[in-house]
Amino acid sequence: MKCDPELYRATSPSLAVKPRLIRHLFLPPLIIALMIGLGYIGFWVSEHYGIRSLSENGERQLELHARAVESEISKYTYLPSLLELETSVSKLLADPSPEHRQTVNDYLEGLNRRSRSRAIYVMDTTGRVMATSNWRDFDSYLGEDLSFRAYFQNAVRGQPGRFYGIGSTNGEPGYYLAHGLEEHGKIIGVAVVKVRLEAMEERWQRARLEAFVSDENGIIILSSDPARRLKSVVPLSDETKEKLARSLQYYWFPLNELQPLARETLSEGVEKLTFPANSELVSDDENISYLSQSRPLSDTPWNFTLLTPLQDLRREAINQGILVAVAFALVAFLLIAWNERRKVIATRLAAREALQEANNQLERRITERTVDLRASNERLKSQIRERRHAEETLRHAQDELVQAGKLAAIGQMSTSIAHELNQPLAALRTLSGNTVRFLERGQLDVASTNLKTINELIDRMGRITASLRSFARRGDDKGQACLGKGVEAALQLLDGRMKNTRLHRLFEEVQVQIDQTRLEQILVNLIGNALDAMQAQPQPELWLEGEAFEGKYRLRVRDNGHGIDAEARKHLFEPFFTTKPGEQGLGLGLTLSASLAAATGGHLGVEHPASGGTAFVLSLPLVSPTPAEPI
Ligand code: ADP
Repeated sequence: MKCDPELYRATSPSLAVKPRLIRHLFLPPLIIALMIGLGYIGFWVSEHYGIRSLSENGERQLELHARAVESEISKYTYLPSLLELETSVSKLLADPSPEHRQTVNDYLEGLNRRSRSRAIYVMDTTGRVMATSNWRDFDSYLGEDLSFRAYFQNAVRGQPGRFYGIGSTNGEPGYYLAHGLEEHGKIIGVAVVKVRLEAMEERWQRARLEAFVSDENGIIILSSDPARRLKSVVPLSDETKEKLARSLQYYWFPLNELQPLARETLSEGVEKLTFPANSELVSDDENISYLSQSRPLSDTPWNFTLLTPLQDLRREAINQGILVAVAFALVAFLLIAWNERRKVIATRLAAREALQEANNQLERRITERTVDLRASNERLKSQIRERRHAEETLRHAQDELVQAGKLAAIGQMSTSIAHELNQPLAALRTLSGNTVRFLERGQLDVASTNLKTINELIDRMGRITASLRSFARRGDDKGQACLGKGVEAALQLLDGRMKNTRLHRLFEEVQVQIDQTRLEQILVNLIGNALDAMQAQPQPELWLEGEAFEGKYRLRVRDNGHGIDAEARKHLFEPFFTTKPGEQGLGLGLTLSASLAAATGGHLGVEHPASGGTAFVLSLPLVSPTPAEPI
């Protein structure tokens, strides 16, 4: 099946390859870039909303814990002012005798125990400690001059003294609340309560909260993480540092700055702080970010700050980012796969359509050609009919011609016949005359010999006329003959002459289209000639070789006789040509045999094998084209 090349013409390769090449070159980097971009967006969005959610949650926590700090501080706010009502205190300030001091010491000791404060003490207007709850301790404040303390200076002026500082005596941090003790409108002394707020730090630690309180100087005074304590959250100038050092408010602590690596303000009081890795605050290998939320504490100049670590959130945001990138990659992969599949299906469909179209076209052409073929077939059939008719006419004419030829040959032969018959007739005339005379003389022996010769001459003449009769007969009889039978009959006739001849039967049992007697006649002629030719041969051999060829059967009668010389070969099939001496040959055998073979559509030919001898080839039409088993 031939396909129309027009149908399968593809797009020009240069045009088809380029966009695909460009796609293959640019698609992977584009997908990777989009993966990174979308992954980053996913990370950013997740972090953003995570921070917002953390911030809302932190807001509540901030409020809760800031209130807790405020209530802790406010618990002690009124405690120093209560001492104003205590007469023993005013007596001591008016008359600082040992008895009065002891009374107040005891009173303050009891009060301190009950209020769970760190220390309660009373100072005179010069700042000297007149009585204290810790009068029994070796590092008692008793008699100490604390006039340099800011809380004293504020309280002695009638203002509430609030102060966080580290005790100058024992270096212990604490929150100091001071109150100016008035009597008759005049400040006679200052009452101070020192409170320790470490309990809050422990509470934060227990709640795993990261929080700190920074004072008005920006110094962290309370922190869930001890490492952050007494660090500055704002940059401190040298001047401020010196001033603070001189006030001994923070004892001799260096007041290092707690400076983050990055600070990003998200909203009012909300910041994102990143602390460097392996700093004194961060023991981890990577930077740590916190969400910092601050709020001022009421009644104090302090700020409460809540720190929420962002590592988990960041990790989750990274995971989300990766998830988005992977999801995108998956979607991209599926889209590409889908697209490729769509293209394959489209190509297949196009190919199928093209094939269908080609098929249709082919079928159309086949139909057209079938019509043409049918027409030409019809033409051929009529031509065959005409040719057959012509052939028949021709054959008829040929038969007529053959017959005419035969008659012509007979005509031609008449001279030879006349010559052939005149000779014995003349002899007969002479012999018969002589015989009469010999009979009259009584020479019976000679007369008898003459009569024998006359007999022989008459036989010969009879044979000549018999041969001529069969030669002239029309060859239109289409009999059938069995080759084996014909050979057997011929051999039987010639049996006496076969003597020591070695016979090779190499033919098959076939049926040929010829009258059985005629076949035998031909075979007797051919075998007889072969036997004649082998007369001088000490080891005569005769081969009868057969083969089927193109609907005919060829029988080769081959001998190892003397062969035929060049001159004789020219006249072999001419009538009355013979090389045989005297009465032995008529010279009609081959002429007659060839004529009989031709009459049935066969042929008789001669071959002169290089090995010697002669081979006559008799070719006759087969009745059945399939040869039978060899004999
Ligand atoms: P005749 O046998 O009466 O001579 P043919 O027509 O049969 O007539 O033969 C013609 C001549 O052809 C023979 O005289 C002979 O010379 C020659 N011839 C025929 N067959 C053979 C053969 N097998 N070998 C040699 N010569 C042959």
